Amino acid sequence: MVVSPKVKSFICTTAHPTGCRESVKRQIDYIKSLGKVTTEVSAPKKILVIGSSTGYGLASRISLAFGYQADTLGIMFEREGNGRRTATAGWYNTKAFEEFATAEGLYAKSINGDAFSQEIKEQTVKTIKEDLGKVDMVVYSLAAPRRTTADGTTYVSTLKTVGAPFQNKSINLEENIITEASIPCATDEEIEATRKVMGGEDWIDWIDALKEADVLADNAVTLAYSYIGPELTYPIYYEGSIGQAKKHLYQSCDVINQKHNSVKAYISVNKALVTQSSSAIPVVPLYISILYKVMKEAGVHEGCIEQMGRLFLDRLTKAEPETDENGFLRLDDWEMRKDIQDKVLDIWKQISTENLTTLADLDGYWDDFYKMFGFHYDNIDYDADVEI
Ligand code: NAD
Repeated sequence: MVVSPKVKSFICTTAHPTGCRESVKRQIDYIKSLGKVTTEVSAPKKILVIGSSTGYGLASRISLAFGYQADTLGIMFEREGNGRRTATAGWYNTKAFEEFATAEGLYAKSINGDAFSQEIKEQTVKTIKEDLGKVDMVVYSLAAPRRTTADGTTYVSTLKTVGAPFQNKSINLEENIITEASIPCATDEEIEATRKVMGGEDWIDWIDALKEADVLADNAVTLAYSYIGPELTYPIYYEGSIGQAKKHLYQSCDVINQKHNSVKAYISVNKALVTQSSSAIPVVPLYISILYKVMKEAGVHEGCIEQMGRLFLDRLTKAEPETDENGFLRLDDWEMRKDIQDKVLDIWKQISTENLTTLADLDGYWDDFYKMFGFHYDNIDYDADVEI
């Protein structure tokens, strides 16, 4: 079948298998290009990545597998292809990752199912016991729209403000024009539901389950990811419903550290990047397009793989990794540099539909977007038939 992109607002409903493979290959090549990693601590060797198929989770898996020759077990929620419909990008990414890792003698298995469920946790424990014995690192990189808890209740997360509605510039991605976004206030119920989905309750459940089953090595490290960003996006992110969930994630990090002496939990605050999750947030895609422009011009732009390479193969190699006053690892350090943010804000004030393509890196945004689904790689023949 010839596979072409089918974009509907902030999502592409098709994915290209060869292109996704190319994306994974390029990320692996980047990690290999960093050379041999020296660490002050023992390198992680057996790793569980929850949310391993796209974005930051996939980049984490690749950095750890190919940076440390580590065995990885991945958990994801992806759709397989059928005769008429392509699989999701995460499904193709995972197949490609497994193929590349296995070719180098690395263990790479993946479980496709709902990470929030008890069933998948049990299946994971069983797989670790049978195949790995114990894991010494757990990366928690879920970004999910909903979660069904053990009592059968389904919670849906929202991207709204808290306290007062918010109006600001945004980008209409279908027409590439600047619009005014009005973001309503979340109700208490919506805030609570967002916290249930994107907070840290399930992260704690995972660590408890792994610990109880004795499949977590002593001195294991676990990480979850967050975003803070500049004041410009505070109403929709940091202080919005998602920000309230992230506050719960921070508290959960403390809970894990207090509860389990032999586990070290970290929050890593990462850079704003185009991923399937971030494209869905109002205001953020415009911010990202401007940020890309400014960071590329300053020579400090990174994608998911560069970020995760820096996290795992540099920051976490130290016996005492550098953290901020809250204990967070700050991979958003270059994004938050004063010179970068001053320029972003300056552009934000001026930006309009007329100057959008000159003041923001819209091409860079769209290029990343299409590449997430395996499109726009110059070495791939998109007219050729591919097995989906
Ligand atoms: P993403 O959408 O690319 O990846 C989400 C992953 O979660 C995928 O592997 C998906 O299969 C998996 N997943 C979703 N629901 C699942 C379920 N029920 N069961 C099992 N797997 C499931 O998202 P991302 O942007 O890489 O986000 C990962 C984390 O990084 C999130 O915590 C996010 O807040 C954080 N983060 C993102 C950004 C950004 O700009 N994208 C910045 C900083 C931090």
